Amino acid sequence: MTVKAYGAHAGNLPLESLEITRRAPGAHDVQIAIDYCGVCHSDIHQVRSEWDGTLYPCVPGHEIVGRVVAVGNHVSGHRVGDLVGVGCIVDSCKHCADCDEGLENYCDHMVGTYNGPTPDAPGHTLGGYSQQIVVHERYVLRIRHPQEQLAAVAPLLCAGITTYSPLRHWKVGPGHKVGVVGIGGLGHMGIKLAHAMGAHVVAFTTSEGKRDAALALGADEVVVSRNADEMAAHAKSFDFILNTVAVPHDLDAFFNLLKRDGTMTLVGAPATPHPSPQVFNLITKRRTLAGSMIGGIPETQEMLDFCAEHGIVADIEVIRADQINDAYERMLKGDVKYRFVIDNASLAA
Ligand code: NAP
Ligand code: ZN
Repeated sequence: MTVKAYGAHAGNLPLESLEITRRAPGAHDVQIAIDYCGVCHSDIHQVRSEWDGTLYPCVPGHEIVGRVVAVGNHVSGHRVGDLVGVGCIVDSCKHCADCDEGLENYCDHMVGTYNGPTPDAPGHTLGGYSQQIVVHERYVLRIRHPQEQLAAVAPLLCAGITTYSPLRHWKVGPGHKVGVVGIGGLGHMGIKLAHAMGAHVVAFTTSEGKRDAALALGADEVVVSRNADEMAAHAKSFDFILNTVAVPHDLDAFFNLLKRDGTMTLVGAPATPHPSPQVFNLITKRRTLAGSMIGGIPETQEMLDFCAEHGIVADIEVIRADQINDAYERMLKGDVKYRFVIDNASLAA
């Protein structure tokens, strides 16, 4: 089947309207009409080949929500008409230790929702800036939020799980002082989720203008990280810091804020390395530097259910597909509160 999409033919070209093909659903496949797709900073990194290896045409988008329009004969968990989501993963080996534990995100053969290997034309996966997608049932999530929140649910499929998973893994909860660095798509979800988990949340931003907004998101305190005095006031006081920043920066400024045995987990994925840390900033307080990548399918469902139960969605600005190139430029300037979401109905125009 042919569907309309938005994508790029090369890393130095703008995204434009394209036609792509989707396979007919196989026995275990779910065919989804996409209502909305969130716009992740990873879409920019990849469509511009900042991480190298991008295959073209590239159709980004891994924060997908929509309705089931057809299911294969062996699909039992999803029915036509269901509200569903698809995140960053559309396939994995299904039998390694990681897949067995529901950590498909760490499977060596995980297939990303776009730019991953597939037998389908054109030989690599094409993402959610498109009218429809066909996905194996294992990687399709149930959405329990009310229909009218659907657009604001889309960013949970990447920004939500990428922040939820490390907060859970490092057991963030009441009595913990938790920092969230960078108040963008990921960071604003990190603030909401850490707050809902009961932690004392401090937001770190480079943008003076986000101070009040961060408090409204659920932060207990806000620090403008360019202000050395504000940073010094929090020295050696954090249990955990989640760093979502998309560009290389001085990590030591944040290590100095961790207590003994504190951890800073990086989820931001800049194209070039950070200039630090200094080893002494780690060894003198037994501090840990860690990383985390999205989350597995069971944990993504757990996160969606947690958010439905706590009334959590993303703060979004809905755009038409033909506004995507401007949206990227605005994201690079930090000018979005806090996630763009494409209304996929605009692809039909
Ligand atoms: P985003 O919406 O563009 O937000 C990034 C935030 O970083 C900005 O809003 C800004 O917050 C801060 N920032 C930007 N420039 C900065 C600078 N020069 N110095 C310090 N802070 C700066 O991006 P996103 O969608 O949240 O993605 C963030 C990163 O996570 C990207 O690299 C993305 O590829 C990566 N990512 C990783 C995973 C994973 O699985 N690990 C998953 C999804 C995305 P302030 O204005 O508050 O400073
Ligand atoms: Zn993403």
